[in-house]
Amino acid sequence: MDGLLTFLGTGTSMGVPTLGCECAVCSSDDPRDRRLRPSVLLRWREPGQVQERVVVIDTGPDFREQALRNGLTRVDAVFYTHSHADHILGLDDLRPLSFTVFREGGPIPLYASAETIEVLERVYDYTFSPNSTYPTRARVQLHPLAERTALYGVYFLRVPVLHGEMAIAGFRFGRAAYLTDVSAIPESSFALLEGLDHLVISALRHQPHPSHATVKQATGWAERIGARHTWLTHIAHELGHEETNRTLPDGIRLAYDGLSLPVNLREPTQQIELM
Ligand SMILES: [Zn+2]
Ligand SMILES: [Zn+2]
Repeated sequence: MDGLLTFLGTGTSMGVPTLGCECAVCSSDDPRDRRLRPSVLLRWREPGQVQERVVVIDTGPDFREQALRNGLTRVDAVFYTHSHADHILGLDDLRPLSFTVFREGGPIPLYASAETIEVLERVYDYTFSPNSTYPTRARVQLHPLAERTALYGVYFLRVPVLHGEMAIAGFRFGRAAYLTDVSAIPESSFALLEGLDHLVISALRHQPHPSHATVKQATGWAERIGARHTWLTHIAHELGHEETNRTLPDGIRLAYDGLSLPVNLREPTQQIELM
């Protein structure tokens, strides 16, 4: 079974162009230098099924625009990597899509760690509070993120990574993995990343940052993981698309908004030994 992985956004938290900035990348006319906040979309169809399944990882502040650009008409589930604003502030825009899914069978499941659930419940109290009377609140339901989540024939494996002091979630599905906001990868997570066709990993810029990898760190891990293709994301305005790509090793490239990659989802990831 094959799926299609699409980059909804590849920018850092402020987006690129960054408001008020007139640097070369922020004023570039290369569309690949325009980056919405980081998120990906995975679509697939189970054998013999008509209904396409759609999973989104993170709903940042640009989610509505990303959904429009990519013709998104349904979302079957959302996985959250962590609770920072650039990854959660589009949750409310799930509302219209959630009404459709709700009529079909129930609320959209949102999978998140206990820490992320706590923040989501606070920020979106009008959605999650049992006393909420807001009639058009999103029909969504929070689920604690497990080590492995099965959805319509695809296994989503949680890949723990560090984001500064925070332990956050990356995900593996079939022969692809999505790791954003990474500053360190625990030794035990490398075992979950073997045999990848596509690795997506964040690389903010060249200068060190306390909670984000530099291009050098990310390419170092990418070379160790050895995926056939590595795509860098969560990119700041210090990195021009063309110019940076020219300096990267073979098989490692900057991702860009709208890039789609076919992904082999057949890999029985359930056989990977969990730490
Ligand atoms: Zn972020
Ligand atoms: Zn973050």
